[in-house]
Amino acid sequence: MQSVEHIVEIDSLIKQYPVGGGLRAKQVLRAVDGVSLSIRKGETLGLVGESGCGKSTTGQLAARLIPLTSGEIKFKGRDITQLGGRESKAVRREIQYVFQDPYTSLNPRHTLGTLLEEPLVIHGIGERRERKYRVHEMLERIGLNSAYSAHYAHELSGGQRQRIGIARALMLEPEFLILDEPVSALDVSVQSQILNLLKDLQSQYDLTYLFISHDLNVVHYMSDRVAVMYLGKVVELTDVDTLYASPLHPYTQALISAIPTGTGEVKRERIILQGELPNPLEIQGGCSFQSRCPYAYDRCSREVPALTPGGEGHLVRCHLHS
Ligand code: SF4
Repeated sequence: MQSVEHIVEIDSLIKQYPVGGGLRAKQVLRAVDGVSLSIRKGETLGLVGESGCGKSTTGQLAARLIPLTSGEIKFKGRDITQLGGRESKAVRREIQYVFQDPYTSLNPRHTLGTLLEEPLVIHGIGERRERKYRVHEMLERIGLNSAYSAHYAHELSGGQRQRIGIARALMLEPEFLILDEPVSALDVSVQSQILNLLKDLQSQYDLTYLFISHDLNVVHYMSDRVAVMYLGKVVELTDVDTLYASPLHPYTQALISAIPTGTGEVKRERIILQGELPNPLEIQGGCSFQSRCPYAYDRCSREVPALTPGGEGHLVRCHLHS
């Protein structure tokens, strides 16, 4: 069998938060509940699901922005969960995070040139002149010209701000980018420009992406494989074409049936999910999707389904396929 280089290997990741307190017994919320994902070098893994499903928390854990409760994260074969000091700083340089709206992280008192130079200063890279040169070069690469180095963040449009957010992430020449809803705050016309920029940069720099979004059209356009999350768990994982043509999990089927089809495409029958996303603290056992699933049966309330193969390279968490 041909070996595949996995640059990122996430195993049994758990992030839990205590809820309540005082006189009430504390409960534990599992925001991320045993997520395992591997990402190949140069690929884009899409991570999709409704708001509150744990996809952004998974990304923040992978970037080591927040501490994990348990699990393992390997980057290029090395466990990075226990690293400290200099080693941790070196890994942070190779793994960068792009937020939905970088505006909050762009200091309004500093020019864009200073903001882009800052990561290089923090990591002690280059002399002043070399750093300036790299800032100007990066501005050209992300589709702004070097004159923007004298501008401020408040002078930019939303799309230009996101270009700066991406440029800041790339200044340290990382290998792995976690893109957290990078176009959700932008107009549709600007979204496609940013998505195309991300694709160009990926091939130019041989980047690996974890692409987090609630928008299935955007995830379809960007991803090689897609993982679907529901209440802290991955419920389906496969290549992008298989997922959109033949989804197996009832939740994925409902999400995909709700994507508006363009003219000329075969219209899918829309599956309406019952109810809202349940409170994860109120789930008693069994499948966490049972309260909304049109196919739920007695086994679903007794047993938690495991993520099992539903075809070649296709994993699904549902008793109907185990
Ligand atoms: Fe639906 Fe049961 Fe499958 Fe869960 S395990 S998705 S409730 S059929």
